[in-house]
Amino acid sequence: MRRDLDWTADEARALGERGLELWCELLRTMPERPVSSSWSAEALSAITPPIPEEPVSDDELMTLARRVLLELATYPGHPRFMGYICGAGTVPGAVADLLAAALNANAGAFRLGPGAITIETHLTRWFATQVFGLPEGAFGLFTSGGALANLVALKVARDACGAPSVRERGISGAPMAVYCSEAAHLVIDRAVDILGMGTRCLRKISVDDAGRMRVDALERAVEDDARAGVLPAAIVATAGTIGTGAVDPLDEIAQLAARRRAWFHIDGAYGAVACLSDRLKPLFRGIERADSIAFDPHKWLSTPLAGGCVVARDPERLKRGFAMPLPPYVRQDKERTGDGIDLGLYGPEFSRGFNAFKVLFSLLAHGRRPYAASIERNVDLARHLAEMVDAHPHMERLSDGELSICCFRYVPPALRADDRALDALNERIMTELQVDGRAFCSGAVIAGRFALRACIVNFRTREHDVDALLRVVEDIGARLGAAWPSGFLY
Ligand SMILES: *Cc1c(COP(=O)(O)O)cnc(C)c1O
Repeated sequence: MRRDLDWTADEARALGERGLELWCELLRTMPERPVSSSWSAEALSAITPPIPEEPVSDDELMTLARRVLLELATYPGHPRFMGYICGAGTVPGAVADLLAAALNANAGAFRLGPGAITIETHLTRWFATQVFGLPEGAFGLFTSGGALANLVALKVARDACGAPSVRERGISGAPMAVYCSEAAHLVIDRAVDILGMGTRCLRKISVDDAGRMRVDALERAVEDDARAGVLPAAIVATAGTIGTGAVDPLDEIAQLAARRRAWFHIDGAYGAVACLSDRLKPLFRGIERADSIAFDPHKWLSTPLAGGCVVARDPERLKRGFAMPLPPYVRQDKERTGDGIDLGLYGPEFSRGFNAFKVLFSLLAHGRRPYAASIERNVDLARHLAEMVDAHPHMERLSDGELSICCFRYVPPALRADDRALDALNERIMTELQVDGRAFCSGAVIAGRFALRACIVNFRTREHDVDALLRVVEDIGARLGAAWPSGFLY
């Protein structure tokens, strides 16, 4: 039995090769496995062993890993996974993650992770200037995900909105508002709460029939607030809403934000990386005018969880927004050392992992063009699903998004006029589908009606997978619908 925490290279290889073997088994067999499993209490307790006094064997470690990877999993990388917005996980990204862990660089300080920080700033510069079209000088930082990326941007917006000494004195006595659409993600609500602005400062602007923020309503809200002496801290446009994939009219909102001197932030957690596609880029006209953009490589770039990103037109704002008097343990004579940017001073996290490596590895190993083609194919598959739904006598389409989401519901003839029964039935269908395992989608509420929501951000998904989703919905729907007298169960 091992005596030391410091494993030899041979010990590392012995366990590493077994891990690799399991990974390959997962890759080989995933398409035949259920997308998700229903789990028992025994299965859950098998992966929560008591923490031992002495080491367990490699065999025991691998038995536990098999359970986690093969028995107790939902696979966002499964070709028939079409729920929420979850990337599939790239193969080169997984290798990079192992190597990043092996190196164990700290991307908080340049001295502790020179390679990690050089790669991270290279990538955020590339996204900011080449993909989104922000001016030279723009860059940002990787975060754990879209939630934190949006929080960082809104923190900087809050500080920049013109209220005096917010960082020193807090926001008391400085009435301010943040504007976003009704279809914005809940992390925006959460961010204004965390930032102490209060959720009441959030103005939820109504959306048009296509789910996009109404600029006339936005303008009215900003004007009303201005008359009442409320400062516009930020206007948040969504580039790809979570429900239907709508892209707010970025260009018009940018104009309004400039006129009103409001920080223009874009939550592009889902949609913004579609700018990699020349075909889809025009949907995002105006993105280049943003003050800050949040986006999620772990969604449509499929890089392994977790890794979101925020970029700023003027990154000095990030640095100022998180600056504190530097204690002696982080001071550094950079002239002498030649050190670069300490990203731990540009955001809320101090020690930081090397999240950029899996993104660089994936972009290099796949290339921009195949990435763009995969994103376009996902959009085409959502169109295909929409056409199948339209042609189906017992299905009704509820959304018309331009990205890769299609919302629909199952409508058996007997319930055709009964929205409440259809809501209840379709919600049940979603739940049954998620434990069924043949295909996977999630739900949304569109204009008050419950919809099944398929979001396709997976490079493995093909037409027959989308067709299968519809077949399974029909199968479960027919089974439930037959036993579903109108008026039952609500
Ligand atoms: C997913 C998503 C978020 C949240 O991002 P996480 O990476 O899950 O933290 C925020 N906004 C939008 C539009 C999203 O799609």
